[in-house]
Amino acid sequence: MSTPAFQNFIDGEWAAGKGTFENRNPADTSEVVGLFSKGTAADVERAADAAARAFPAWSSMPAPARGAILYKAADILEQQFDQLGAEMTREEGKTLPEAKGEVRRAINIFRYFGGEGSRLNGILTPSERERVHTFAIRKAIGVVGLITPWNFPIAIPAWKLAPALICGNTVLIKPASVSPLMCWRLVEALHKAGIPKGVVNFVAGSGGELGQALVAAKPLKAISFTGSCEIGAWLHAEASKRKLRIQLEMGGKNPTIVLADADFSSAVENTVNAAFFSTGQKCTATSRVIVEEPIYDKFLAALVERTRKLKVGNGMQAGIDIGPAVDQGQLDTVLKYIDIATKECGAPLCGGTRLTGGDYDKGYFVEPTIFGGVTENMRIAQEEVFGPVLAVMRARDFADAMRIANNTPLGLSASIQTSNVSRVFDFVYGAEAGLLTVNLPSAGVEYQLPFGGTKDSSFGPKEQGPAALDFYSDYKTVYLKY
Ligand code: NAP
Repeated sequence: MSTPAFQNFIDGEWAAGKGTFENRNPADTSEVVGLFSKGTAADVERAADAAARAFPAWSSMPAPARGAILYKAADILEQQFDQLGAEMTREEGKTLPEAKGEVRRAINIFRYFGGEGSRLNGILTPSERERVHTFAIRKAIGVVGLITPWNFPIAIPAWKLAPALICGNTVLIKPASVSPLMCWRLVEALHKAGIPKGVVNFVAGSGGELGQALVAAKPLKAISFTGSCEIGAWLHAEASKRKLRIQLEMGGKNPTIVLADADFSSAVENTVNAAFFSTGQKCTATSRVIVEEPIYDKFLAALVERTRKLKVGNGMQAGIDIGPAVDQGQLDTVLKYIDIATKECGAPLCGGTRLTGGDYDKGYFVEPTIFGGVTENMRIAQEEVFGPVLAVMRARDFADAMRIANNTPLGLSASIQTSNVSRVFDFVYGAEAGLLTVNLPSAGVEYQLPFGGTKDSSFGPKEQGPAALDFYSDYKTVYLKY
């Protein structure tokens, strides 16, 4: 069977780039999931120009009509539900149930923002003056560039595309090179749903080359980026030179605090889930668990025992808990940090090696790994690994746990496990993170609420929920004497 090929989508047409690149299955690298057209800087310019031409008609279409296209695309995705789940597992490696959960989320996101077409609430307030009517309406901002990472290959493109489009913007999206297929499927669904030509453009290829072209593309008005802090910082600097509106969602070093009064077994379960599911490759994954002194030893022992039971393997197989790292580079990063942490605090209490032998040799499998006795200044307590590596830290009491939790430049998600309501509220008001969970895993968010971090994790307005409209629209304020 020949390998399927996927072209770019520019100005309503499928378009070849300059050569192709492979999208390989990280659980079985002998399988090429697809061949993608390699976009060029000229393709980015062409796509941005097409988006600019499409903008006047799209932005002046009634918003409910734009919403109808999002609903229709959601229906198309729904019909492909099982296929998309399997394709995602094959291109990104996460387990099939996790992949299907993410496809469901993308469908829900399209429907949620489709409904926003009938709202797009502005502001209506009484004027101070007699017979003056004051209000503010939302208006689209223009051509928007979207850059997405590999770890949520359909949810993140969906939660950028849907609000951008419903507000009346036209877009150019560049997916991550290791998992471009899910984003391509979203664009295909929008095309089949009848989105007018030029409104959505898709260009795959090297982030370095296309990113430079995108940030320089004349028609561009805004960029929404999710990915690493390093690339985010570069984009921010470049975009600011042109006064582009920019939104950045980046890394995390997310803590879970476990207090002595927590429901012990659910705290263990929540920590294991948040640290290791999706191979620890969630931006909201727990990478530090901060345990109160009286239960530290018991909790650590239970955590190790539970983690040893996790099954690592090809996510297409039933009963697998953890799939592979997404590619060789990510696997190398994980192994590098295991080495760093071993030098800092001794051998891991479980895991610590690449899995080999049999089917493991086909992919990038690594054991879920736990380090005990981690202290605040160690690199393993400060730097994002983005893999199945958990640092366990000891806290004297709640105040000490909060101090340790906040002692990092990043602030994406944070969790607490406790049965004390006052501690819950102290945590809610004191934790320096944009997403908080209580007695739940630190990862696992819903589309109808604002999403995003604080401190160095994020920049600009939040994504998802009603807050998403703030980045993708502008207010026009009207004072009207009658
Ligand atoms: P990445 O290396 O920063 O890549 C993200 C995207 O940026 C990819 O599409 C990449 O393209 C592109 N890119 C690379 N260089 C670029 C440049 N010079 N200009 C413009 N774009 C460029 O991040 P990643 O490894 O894909 O994702 C992992 C990171 O994302 C982690 O740090 C994780 O915490 C973060 N993340 C954050 C959130 C959040 O919401 N806060 C969610 C998910 C992930 P190529 O693929 O072609 O290199």
